Parts: sequence; C-alpha cells; structure tokens
Amino acid sequence: FSGAVTLDGPSGTGKSSVARAVALELGAAYLDTGAMYRAATVAVLDAGVDLDDADGITRAVTEAVIGIGTDAATEQVTVDDVDVTDRIRGSEVTRAVSPVSAVPAVRRLLVDAQRSLVGDAVAVVVEGRDIGTVVLPDATLKVYLTAEPEARAERRAAQLGVTDPAKIAAIAADLRRRDTYDSTRTDSPLRPATDAVTVDSTHWERHQTIAAIVGLARE
Ligand code: C5P
Repeated sequence: FSGAVTLDGPSGTGKSSVARAVALELGAAYLDTGAMYRAATVAVLDAGVDLDDADGITRAVTEAVIGIGTDAATEQVTVDDVDVTDRIRGSEVTRAVSPVSAVPAVRRLLVDAQRSLVGDAVAVVVEGRDIGTVVLPDATLKVYLTAEPEARAERRAAQLGVTDPAKIAAIAADLRRRDTYDSTRTDSPLRPATDAVTVDSTHWERHQTIAAIVGLARE
C-alpha cells in the first residue's frame, strides 16, 4: 500500500486501536490527531487560561511546542518536551478538549501541523474527525467508522470495567446525546466526506473491522 488512509468517526467506535492496527498491517505511519487536540488542551490547562477565553486559548496553543510520534507501534506525545502520553487520556484533559478544539484558530494551527507531519510520507493512516473533509481531502482512501450507540457504550463499559446494565444504558444515552450535538452543530468537524466509505462495526469484532479496512486500502 502507498498513499494516505483517513479514518474519521465519532468516539467509542474503537477507532484509535483499529487505526493503529491498520497502520501496522499496511506498514504505514500513523497520526492520531485527537492526541494533538489533547496535547493542546494540556498547554491550555497549564497556562491557567479560562476555557471560554478563545484568545487566551489560541495564545497558549501557539506558544506550546507539541511533539507527536508517527510510529504506529508506540505512542509518544510531548508538550514543551515534557512527556504527556498518559496525561492526555485523563479526565481533566478529556473534559476540556471540546472547548479547546472548538476554537477556529486552534484548528487552523493543528491542521497545518497535521499536513506537515503527513508531508510526503509514502504510506500513512491519519485518524480524527475532519481528516477526510478538511485535512487531507485528496486522500487515497477515506473511511468513516461508525457503530450504534449501544455497541459503542458496551465497548466503552468494557474498557472502564463497568458491568451494571443501567450504567451501560446511561453511557449509550450520553453517546446518543453527543451524536446529536455533533451532527447538528453547524461548525461540527464530524461528518463523513462525500467520497468516504462508511464502515459500520456494530456487529463486528475488532479484527473484522481491521481486515475490512486493510482490504479496502489494498483494493
Ligand atoms: O479522538 P479523541 O477522543 O482522542 O479526540 C479528542 C477530542 O479532540 C475530540 O472529542 C474532538 O473534540 C477533538 N478532535 C477534533 N478534531 C480531530 C480530532 C479530535 O476536534 N481531528
């Protein structure tokens, strides 16, 4: 395989682990753009900027040096040379990442950085929300990965070790609410590119989803 595969879609589809595995199978580089928005959020939190201060957010992200590895086998994220690989997955960052990524100037900065990171890579898998639509509109293969909220809730619950059916139903309800919010916001980055292939993983095991996408890339 040579070229760029974009993998967009809502959270809770197992997108990251699928994207990484696809990159490994294709011998491609891998870029997790969500990790970049999360790293930008670390910079904002550490600068002590208010989350409704768009100018302050932009300043903090402009001044920060975000480092992100593109090796599919290892994850490494730094902000100003400090390793934040674990910290970007924590709840403090997860709660604050939406307002940070909603600032247009932040998106412009990170989209530019993403395009230079992809550069002229021979083969690369890029994962996010707006990769097929905005970042790499000329990608070789665009995949929009989705799954029913119930399936996504069960995967999320399994990750968190939650087994109570009522709690799983509450997670599904929250995912549905966020789906509606994401698809009705006019500035939402989350929508499939017109030339994307939609892969619905509701009834699939992870390895089936990976095989389907690798198959599409090799077509
Ligand atoms: O994929 P992940 O959950 O790590 O992404 C974290 C957040 O970053 C998303 O909830 C979204 O707000 C933002 N994001 C984005 N555009 C991307 C990737 C992520 O706005 N391309």
